[in-house]
Amino acid sequence: MTFVGKPITCKAALLRKEGHPLTIETITVDPPQGSEVRVRMVSAGVCATDGHPVWGRETDVQLDTGGRPMVLGHEGAGVVESTGPEVTSVRPGDKVVIMWMPECGRCALCANPRTNHCLSGNIVTNMYHEGGQCRTRVDGQPVLMFFGTGTFAQYTVVREAQVAKVNPKANLNDICIIGCAVGTGYAGATNIAKVQRGSKCVVWGLGAIGLSTVLGCRDAGAAEIIGIDRNDYKGEIAKQLGCTQFINPKTTDKQIDDILKSEGGVDYAFDCIGSVDVIDSCLKSLNPWGFLTLIGLPPRGKTVNIPSSRLLAGAHVSGGYYGNAKPRALNQHLVDLHCTDRLPIEHMITQRLNLDDINKAFDDLKAGKAIRTVIMFD
Ligand SMILES: [Zn+2]
Ligand SMILES: [Zn+2]
Repeated sequence: MTFVGKPITCKAALLRKEGHPLTIETITVDPPQGSEVRVRMVSAGVCATDGHPVWGRETDVQLDTGGRPMVLGHEGAGVVESTGPEVTSVRPGDKVVIMWMPECGRCALCANPRTNHCLSGNIVTNMYHEGGQCRTRVDGQPVLMFFGTGTFAQYTVVREAQVAKVNPKANLNDICIIGCAVGTGYAGATNIAKVQRGSKCVVWGLGAIGLSTVLGCRDAGAAEIIGIDRNDYKGEIAKQLGCTQFINPKTTDKQIDDILKSEGGVDYAFDCIGSVDVIDSCLKSLNPWGFLTLIGLPPRGKTVNIPSSRLLAGAHVSGGYYGNAKPRALNQHLVDLHCTDRLPIEHMITQRLNLDDINKAFDDLKAGKAIRTVIMFD
């Protein structure tokens, strides 16, 4: 049965109020217009960035929903169901990964190799579809889309700038997490820090982003990769992915930076948590020429203090969204690696749930019981 040109009625998880669990409701998804793409979702990863509004934690990603319901979710993989008349890069039936960072390919920033930002949309305007409209409705009322993606729904309409056509051999059950966690961590190591062969790295926080950072350090040829986390089971998974040493701060009386300095310091440090205390510890553990990469999202309004003497001594500090890499090419590259068994991301997927059980995913994420939960739609 084809729905081309017609609205689709399906299930979605809606955020009705910040700080409250999601509700499973029936939504109507209108046909795509202009350069929009309607995608049938196969899998969607649950990221902490979706958790912050559910838990009511304030970050620098500010939502102003005006009281409207919103479909959360910014990691997703699926199949193109239909396209608007101006779409050129994907066709119905194509396998795609959803991109929370848009890449229109036409603006001045898309043409600038030094950034992966795009002028075609921002976190607020992206919540609407073309022309400030909403293609998705509940009880006749407009529904906003988190990051313009809204992947916690059986069907979603996104702009062409927010899909990457990927290898037809891709396993759609797994590759959703490449769209945020894997790309962010992996390219944080390979593209922002540009980890050098033979170097020593420390990765703080071994969630899906931290584990992906470990994979990036491994593929860049790091000689030593030290993982730090408060959960021992994450350390075990990190070792399977290339981590050479694991330290649980709860099991030692010493400061982590004291331990690392006594072992000769590190060349690269990654904060995959978004904690000012961790950033401080990273700076203390770095060699004078070391490179600190900020990857985690800190609470709203936090600032980082760096002694100027550290910068004069040659330290580097950087950060970026989605590894500061052009999102379409990075998604396609990482999916290709996964298709040839060179990117073992399945180890990070510790749980698969139906959409109806999505609130369990947020509870488990908050409790440190899950690395990545993937919502399955089929
Ligand atoms: Zn994310
Ligand atoms: Zn652009």
